[in-house]
Amino acid sequence: MTEFDIIKRYFAEQHMLDGNEVRIGIGDDAAIVNAPLQSELAITTDTLVEGVHFLTTALAFDIGHKALAVNLSDLAAMGAEPLWVTLALTLPQVDHHWLSAFCEGFFSLAHRYQVKLIGGDLTRGPLSITIQAIGKIPLRQALLRSTAEPHDLIYVTGTLGDAGLALKHLQSQAYIDPYYQSAILERLHRPEPRVVIGQSLRKLASAAIDISDGLMADLGHILTASQVGAIVYVDRLPFSPGLAQSTPLETAITLGLTSGDDYELCFTVPTKKREELEKNLSALACRYSCIGQITQRPDLILCYENGTPYYGSINGYQHF
Ligand code: ADP
Ligand code: MG
Repeated sequence: MTEFDIIKRYFAEQHMLDGNEVRIGIGDDAAIVNAPLQSELAITTDTLVEGVHFLTTALAFDIGHKALAVNLSDLAAMGAEPLWVTLALTLPQVDHHWLSAFCEGFFSLAHRYQVKLIGGDLTRGPLSITIQAIGKIPLRQALLRSTAEPHDLIYVTGTLGDAGLALKHLQSQAYIDPYYQSAILERLHRPEPRVVIGQSLRKLASAAIDISDGLMADLGHILTASQVGAIVYVDRLPFSPGLAQSTPLETAITLGLTSGDDYELCFTVPTKKREELEKNLSALACRYSCIGQITQRPDLILCYENGTPYYGSINGYQHF
């Protein structure tokens, strides 16, 4: 098979371009799309490298899913509606079973959010996947990291620490209650980007980020960019039943603060918008937790709700 046969079979044919905003999709030197009116475009890119972002034992389906999910998660954190993606794939060899499963994972997520694959690249080399995603946001409604204000409430969606627990388990460093094993492992392998929730935060949140490197590291980015501090109550961190059953509370708190790959959203909300926000998230059946508050003083205080200070490791994952 030639390079273009592979593209045609796996990426072009499977993907019917029906939206009128794509004028030229896969097959020319570049894609041509109609720029949406009255919108800003959010553009992001993320690479997954074998051995760094996923284990060599990871399933092709999961790799296809996750490579797209991490990019959609970045768009969600900006409040953007995903529209188009490009896919640059570097493969050690052409393995048809692998490619079929990869495409199943990739396209099932793409279709869920009506995201269109409009181009890409195919090269030979050590396995890595680079995706670029483009989304739209109504003018001036993007959720930034730099706009949190003192007194704003700090929220997270879903539960924290599950992906981190799954990774430790795969490295034989943590126990997971067998009843919850598949659910916890799925959080690592098939994270669900909070696409709809991110868009629903547009007029409510003052700042937002997705949690890819751990709550402390990612909330830290909001604090630095906004030149504010925060107080976070460690006993308000949300844990899944599986995580709570599998580890002592202290370990759960460490995981919740520092482990990455959960792809939940962390965002800040002015106190006067609290009620509207919580009503909105409940209507979306989204679990949310208010875990603390933004402060003027630019440091991060971790404590229990009763005021007892928390002492523990607070580093998130850093590549360098
Ligand atoms: P060029 O050599 O001009 O860069 P390519 O042969 O790399 O063109 O790609 C041909 C067409 O196929 C382009 O439209 C490109 O966007 C698309 N394409 C290449 N690889 C992929 C891929 N993995 N997924 C989707 N589209 C791809
Ligand atoms: Mg090319």
